[in-house]
Order: sequence, then C-alpha cells, then structure tokens
Amino acid sequence: MSDNEKITIGGNSGNNNGGNNNNPPFTGAPMGDDEFKVPTEEIELPSRGAFYSNGKSTVKIKYLTAEEDNILFSTDLIRSGKVLDVLLENAVIDKELRPDDMVSGDRNLLLIEIRKTGFGNEYKPGSVTCGSCGKDYNPTIDLNKLKPRMLEVMPDSDGFYSLEMPVTKIPIRFRLLRGSDEKRLTKLIESGQKKSNGPRISRLITERYLLQIMEVNGNKDKTYISKFINAMPTKDSLFFREYNRQVEPGIDLDYEFDCEHCGHHETKNIEINSKLFYPDVD
Ligand SMILES: [Zn+2]
Repeated sequence: MSDNEKITIGGNSGNNNGGNNNNPPFTGAPMGDDEFKVPTEEIELPSRGAFYSNGKSTVKIKYLTAEEDNILFSTDLIRSGKVLDVLLENAVIDKELRPDDMVSGDRNLLLIEIRKTGFGNEYKPGSVTCGSCGKDYNPTIDLNKLKPRMLEVMPDSDGFYSLEMPVTKIPIRFRLLRGSDEKRLTKLIESGQKKSNGPRISRLITERYLLQIMEVNGNKDKTYISKFINAMPTKDSLFFREYNRQVEPGIDLDYEFDCEHCGHHETKNIEINSKLFYPDVD
C-alpha cells in the first residue's frame, strides 16, 4: 500500500483506519483561526491622536503575509493606483481608527512600518543622480534611519489650526489632509490626466486648500472660502504651505545620500510610493 492510499483511507474513515497506520489521518479540514497567528505590532502614531475624536494614539498593524501578495500583484489595483490604500486598509487591525480618517503623516509612517514587516529595512529606491559629479548610482536606504516627526504644535479642540495671513491679514482656520482627502485629490489628478490638456497643478492646490481651509474671517461658507482661495496672494499661499509643513506630524523623509563616485554628501527626499513594496523590481 502506498503512503498516498493510507492517507486517503485515514481521511475517509476517521478513527477506524486501524492502529497500525503510522500516518496521521488527513482530514482536509481548514486550519482553525488560532492555528497560525500573523504577527502584529503596536505602532505609536506621530499625531499622538490629537486629530481624532477618540484620541487614539496607537494602532496595531499586522505583518505582511502571502495574503498581501494578492494585493501587490492585482493588476486592477496597480492600474488604479490603489495598492498603497488597500495595503494600509488591510494591515491596520483597529476598528476605531481607520486609515481613511488618519492624517497623511500617520499613514506615511504606517506604510514604512508595514513595508519593514514584509521586506525588512533595506530599500533600493533605484537610480539617483549625484548633484555634484552628475553620475548615477544605486543607493541602499536604511529605512530604520527615518525618524517619526511627533506632533509638537497642538491643534484646537476641533483638530484645527488658526493662522493670520501675512499679506491680507485675514485669519483662517484649517485642518490637515486625511486619507479620504488624499483619495479625492488622487482622483482629481487621474481625471486631469485623461483629458488632453493634462492635470492642472494650480487647480490641485486650490482643491487641496478647499479641503483644508475650514473657516475664513469667521465664515464657514464654502463659496466664500473658495473666493478667498482664488484671490490668495502668492506670499500668503506660500506662508500657509510652510506653516502646514511645520505643524504636520509624520515621518521625516529626508535622507543622507553619499555618491559612490565622488563621495558627495547630499540630502534628498524619500518618496512614499508603491515601489517600496516591490523590492525586486527596478
Ligand atoms: Zn558624485
């Protein structure tokens, strides 16, 4: 009798397969949910939970597994640019705080942490051009060197910031971008790309400001806010963006590169994109 036959008999006849069968009975039953636990990790959010009504400041993520390969290699998701969104949605276990409601900085930090669970901390972003000798090289980045930028300037009880524009002297209240806002902006870029005249950068900034600015001169009316944004002097606009950058928590994506050819040292920004999750692809 072959081993295969023994296994089949054992599986079909339960305990009646005789005491002399050394092979464990093969039942074909699915593994219990508790059989193999995917490792998880508790992550402290850079926002300290200050923008969330429940004040949640940590979330639990599960490690990347073969299940996520289905996401990473789904041509539909790749084509629609939703790989990172779906990965994040899948990895965050907590029900009380979902990635759509998280500020961008928390999402970025989580994406880096999730990446490390699956592919480690070494990342090859591809070819980099040296700012000094102009030659290309392929650096390896240690993602562990990227440090969280914890929230320092606390928002008000609504999770908003108040600001007076330097040129027009108009006071505004604004909030930071969230996952759902990012999705709206991504959609806008896509619809812009479908049209022959291409995406309008200025339009994108306007849309971004519309999502962020909640109040102008004490007025919450969206039409009023929209008129204000369209008439915003460049200096005020730059000031707003800079202030936004200063208060926004997240992960510091500046990285020190050393040119392989001439040793030139320069700081460049690491991009958060789907490339992080395809380490073998150039
Ligand atoms: Zn160089």
